[in-house]
Amino acid sequence: MINYTERISLLMRDIVARVPRLSYIDPDELLVFARYGRRGAAGAVATCHCICLPPTEPGHYYWRDRQTGCVTRRSRWFVTKSPLVCLGGRRVQYLISFALPRFCDQSLAGSKKAQFYGNAERWLAKLDTIIHELYHIDPQAPGIRRVERCDGGAAVGSHGRTFLEQVAEMVKEYLASEPDPACYDFLRDGFAELDGRFDGVVGTTFRTFPSFPQRYIEFLPSASQPETPAAVRIQALKTPDVPTHYSEHDLVVRQFLERATRGVARRDTRREPAALRQIQLPTGGEIQRAAATQSASAQRRVKSGA
Ligand SMILES: [Zn+2]
Repeated sequence: MINYTERISLLMRDIVARVPRLSYIDPDELLVFARYGRRGAAGAVATCHCICLPPTEPGHYYWRDRQTGCVTRRSRWFVTKSPLVCLGGRRVQYLISFALPRFCDQSLAGSKKAQFYGNAERWLAKLDTIIHELYHIDPQAPGIRRVERCDGGAAVGSHGRTFLEQVAEMVKEYLASEPDPACYDFLRDGFAELDGRFDGVVGTTFRTFPSFPQRYIEFLPSASQPETPAAVRIQALKTPDVPTHYSEHDLVVRQFLERATRGVARRDTRREPAALRQIQLPTGGEIQRAAATQSASAQRRVKSGA
């Protein structure tokens, strides 16, 4: 079987070593993992998730009476924090996820990036996406790179024409550096070809699949909770019970099929897979929980998809 996310990780190391504009990235601070994304469906093919932002300032939700404007309910005060992901004792700063099998079939045709590639081969769309996600890492501060409009303001979303153009330039720089084709040849094939040739496509996922480490809410201790007027009721918030600390022990290899995924024992990834558990995913089944406390601009600093 081919471990697709491991191949991407190795390719990223080679890219970072060869493309000077990406030399600020430390590949040991990245973790590539797979999510499920149905082929042919709309949706991101890859996403860069920042997990090194500091906790937010304390905040809370509140509800007002429409007529009087008075606050009637509020949540307890909380901060939003990044999960801790450590591999070999070292903290991971960014997670980069790829939607399988969807990513495997990405092509230049009809994409915004096609304008930069002329008649190039269709698989370059995948190399472009890999460099695109790396380029989202902000070189100056923890977070997702801010993209400025020509007037100096922040662009809506994280892309502008310049961003896409620069990514295409880096794709060409990388290929011009004459890398070993063994590093990127796996991108030439679509999902069906890979699946047939390698007898299965697997990727690294978290034990909590389809969930993965995301920003989470932590309530302030009771002693730090501000006083509340008697007329204001405390509204309980439903917060998902998810792990906040992860290590290499939380990583598991899963096989990605056209319509489902299944757990695979790591030792079996090179031979017939032992199906441990199979999860049938709904059509277009991607599960994502946005951190409820992020403002729109803060959210942009946390993740950016392609
Ligand atoms: Zn992007």
